[in-house]
Formats: sequence, C-alpha cells, structure tokens
Amino acid sequence: MREIVRNCRLCQESMDNSPFMLCQTCLKESEQVWNFIKKNPFVSIKDISVATEVSFEKVERMINFGKERQQRVVNRE
Ligand SMILES: [Zn+2]
Repeated sequence: MREIVRNCRLCQESMDNSPFMLCQTCLKESEQVWNFIKKNPFVSIKDISVATEVSFEKVERMINFGKERQQRVVNRE
C-alpha cells in the first residue's frame, strides 16, 4: 500500500493527513499575511514581510499562490 505524501505548497515540507494544501505553519503565516494585505491593500511585499515577520520569498510565494487561485475562479465565469 502506498501512502499519498502531500507537500506544503509554500515550504515544500511533507505533511501528514492534512486536508489543506499548506502546512500548519504556512497556514498561520498566510492568514497573517492576508489579514495584513486586507488592511493595507497597497503595501509592498517588503513591508508585509517586515510587519508579519514572514520571509520575503515566502510572502511573494503566498501572493502568487493566492493570485493563481483567484484566476481559476475568474476563468470559470
Ligand atoms: Zn509550509
């Protein structure tokens, strides 16, 4: 029997039985990042990174990941 190993979409760490595409750490961090963006829509990635203490590369990846998902929704309409 083969187990399905899922990897976090942001940090590539393997996860056990997670229903999400992100690991616990990244879920928490991306929540912080998106909350911050909601309050500050025109903030730069660098400012987000400083305010949330999430690394610049990770914030960038989160935003790309979020856009990808939004586009999929838009494309369906
Ligand atoms: Zn992760």
